[in-house]
Amino acid sequence: MSLSHGRPYLAIPGPSVMPDRVLAAMHRPAPNIYTGALHEMTETLVPDLKAVAGTRHDVAIYIANGHGTWEASLLNVLSRGDRVLALVSGRFGEGWAEVARALGAEVEVMEFGLDRPADPARIEARLREDREAAIKAVMVVHADTATGVRSDVAAIRAAMDAAGHPALLLADCIASMGCDRFEMDRWGVDVAITASQKGLMTPPGLGFVFFSERAGAARARADMVTPYWDWRPRAAPEQYYQYFGGTAPTHHLYGLRAALDMIAEEGLEQVWTRHARLAAAVWAAVECWGRDGTMRLNVAAPEARSHAVTSIALEAPDADRLRAWCEQEAGLTLGIGLGRMPMEGWFRIGHMGHVNAHMVLGALGVIEAGLAALSIPHGAGGAAAAARALAG
Ligand SMILES: *Cc1c(COP(=O)(O)O)cnc(C)c1O
Repeated sequence: MSLSHGRPYLAIPGPSVMPDRVLAAMHRPAPNIYTGALHEMTETLVPDLKAVAGTRHDVAIYIANGHGTWEASLLNVLSRGDRVLALVSGRFGEGWAEVARALGAEVEVMEFGLDRPADPARIEARLREDREAAIKAVMVVHADTATGVRSDVAAIRAAMDAAGHPALLLADCIASMGCDRFEMDRWGVDVAITASQKGLMTPPGLGFVFFSERAGAARARADMVTPYWDWRPRAAPEQYYQYFGGTAPTHHLYGLRAALDMIAEEGLEQVWTRHARLAAAVWAAVECWGRDGTMRLNVAAPEARSHAVTSIALEAPDADRLRAWCEQEAGLTLGIGLGRMPMEGWFRIGHMGHVNAHMVLGALGVIEAGLAALSIPHGAGGAAAAARALAG
């Protein structure tokens, strides 16, 4: 007998749960892409996207996942042989650095370990050494989805300024946007990237690249970019077609419209606060379970933890067994370990986007049931600790 029949909960860190409102908005016949309602609706997306990113600058929309925006962000500001400093606190930082190298940049990786955020002091010291300003861009992943590490982007900008260094600051906000506080302009970010399927609650397939005036000026010198990835026509289209470099991603746009409406109705500050509160409940449960057995939060310092995803060690093969139990017996799908995290000894909980208290408490209750059913040693009372955390 399985207790999985009912509404499933896909608690992986992307794609995230899609709201019924988003799904319903997409359920329609193909619209005319040459004129009419779709054009008018698309124009309304732009200011709302910028509001979520905290920018008054430009946004280019791509029919792409996050990997597409990894390339777009680099192609528009770099030339072959340019040096970049890639800050790495997990698999996603590594992945973006590999893309930069494959595109022809000279990549210098600064590793902070898999459980630590980027250290502004080290960045400042390195940039002070770079007197000729050979480093053209600093790349940081705001929240690394593999490790759950969140770096302090504003502090990185402050370190760059303290060093008096002119490099651009590029931030991967694919996991964090619409979950963790992010303020592109106030924090001095030149290029911020995100994708539709995490905090933005829309199916995978849309990528967004926000860019400052300085990044726009770098575009004029950059020699890598190919026509499809050029952000200029997308940010300043003369014809509707140019928004998307071709046919519009019609249904995704309607889904995104509904998702942005939901964020605006809740209020962005409130969205961030909700994620913070739900994340704290997850941490409370895991800390409690970790008092016995091998479970532990990957990131020790709460201020360096993502509010969108929690990455948890649980000695092999128990993480694997637990994930299988939760899915088969209770309809809860948890995330796997990625990159250098051992897959059988790791799991992740996605708590991003369309997630509320009963979903998180349900997920944590199921995990606790799984730990008991599988006789995996753990401290008692995790679900109750989560409930208390939510009670405030
Ligand atoms: C999901 C994610 C990516 C990759 O996005 P895809 O849509 O899978 O290509 C990159 N960076 C971060 C931080 C992510 O969370």
